[in-house]
Amino acid sequence: MLVFEKSRPGRGVSALPECDVEILKPEEKDIRTSELHLPEMAEVDLSRHYTELAKKAHGVNDGFYPLGSCTMKYNPRVNEKIAALPGFTDVHPLQPVSTVQGCLRVIKETSEALCEITGMNQFTMQPAAGAHGEFTGLLLIKAYHLANGEPQRTKIIVPDSAHGTNPASAVMAGMEVINVDSTDKGLVDLDKLREVCEGNDQIAGLMLTNPNTAGLFDPNIKEITDIIHECGGQCYYDGANLNAVMGWARPGDMGFDCVHLNLHKTFSTPHGGGGPGSGPVGCKEHLAKFMPGVKVVDKDAHSGKDILSFAKAEESLGEMKSFYGNFLVVVKALTYIKMLGKEGIPEASKNAVLNANYMMQKLKGAYDMAFEPEVCMHEFVMDLSRQAKETGVTAMDIAKGLLDNNIHPPTMYFPLTVHEALMAEPCETESKETLDDAINVFLELNDLAYSDPEKLHQAPVKTPVTRLDEVGAARHPVLKYEFE
Ligand SMILES: *Cc1c(COP(=O)(O)O)cnc(C)c1O
Repeated sequence: MLVFEKSRPGRGVSALPECDVEILKPEEKDIRTSELHLPEMAEVDLSRHYTELAKKAHGVNDGFYPLGSCTMKYNPRVNEKIAALPGFTDVHPLQPVSTVQGCLRVIKETSEALCEITGMNQFTMQPAAGAHGEFTGLLLIKAYHLANGEPQRTKIIVPDSAHGTNPASAVMAGMEVINVDSTDKGLVDLDKLREVCEGNDQIAGLMLTNPNTAGLFDPNIKEITDIIHECGGQCYYDGANLNAVMGWARPGDMGFDCVHLNLHKTFSTPHGGGGPGSGPVGCKEHLAKFMPGVKVVDKDAHSGKDILSFAKAEESLGEMKSFYGNFLVVVKALTYIKMLGKEGIPEASKNAVLNANYMMQKLKGAYDMAFEPEVCMHEFVMDLSRQAKETGVTAMDIAKGLLDNNIHPPTMYFPLTVHEALMAEPCETESKETLDDAINVFLELNDLAYSDPEKLHQAPVKTPVTRLDEVGAARHPVLKYEFE
């Protein structure tokens, strides 16, 4: 039942004291003429309403959540505790910098840590999420080519294994996407890449996810970035999947010029349900003068004092978001980085990769693995084409069956190059027992596909709603309550 349907006139939760200051009368033109339909409820009913809604959702705290490419790791509570400190929450972005030195230090230290982790020279915290970061990085590349007197460089190479946001961001940035097919091993086809690049002065650059969305680390990575640089392009690294390599391999060392990270994935800030996220963008020195927003510097130009302050880049491309991005998300990420430290960060990645390989090996007999890798990185892709052909049970049916077992399904039907794809990313924070339980569920569902496929076509049966019209929900969303 919706909160509006539970509303009863006269009930309410406000317990404000009587107003003891003058009540200002707004001007006639500013007063609304239609009725304001706010739900009226007692506090206990409102509290129950939201608790009930929360129970209907599946979060990392409810159960296993191997949603590929989303890095649904456990978000340590200490992050929340630190981010809730009044020194971080009760500040205003326009406060004099001398009164918020701690907040500036958070931005500075996070930038420095991310530079070290990625091999970049500078970071901005402004972008609000991964795709926003991609867009920012592409604008940096565009600004660079324009400043070099090469406005014709408008084409960006995006391999077919890229995350869907990559080509979308490129188009948003006014670039034309050139798709390059992968090899049958799921890696970038070097010959095809050379063919596109050689002598082409319209190439703005390349966008690459490494490890890619199939969970494969491209062993030719240095050769790939060299090919792009040789033809005058810039290399953009989609670092959303950094969980696989942090502390082990750095985009900067692989030859990339700029990168975005998803703090709301690798760096353990909660996500799902729409945010808030944070997609900081890092770049090498030659792109730094175009960075958006402000960076933290050691001297305050106004007062001449040696305190932390903000400065704009010389040829800044402008603002990507108001002020300093989603600051509290950055606080959580820095807490996480400091809790793990130099030893913990590579350890987290190592276990993420180990967990993915453990699951992949255990499921390999029952499920075909796309691209048949010997080892995967942080995630692996199952291809259910065989089950679909032999039993009629699709990746979607298995996903629905998982819901009945309190497991969030893997990412479905992605990458697009695999037809019945289920892409699973278990993350480092899951115990062997959780992985073993999930493996058993996957194996049982596969058996069920062969013994009683109809059961899986009916699933889920234990969730608050069963099969939904997903296409209808996407094409004709009902987002508004209609009052009678
Ligand atoms: C999640 C993801 C993105 C997009 O990040 P958002 O924060 O959802 O915008 C981009 N690329 C890859 C590889 C991702 O996994």
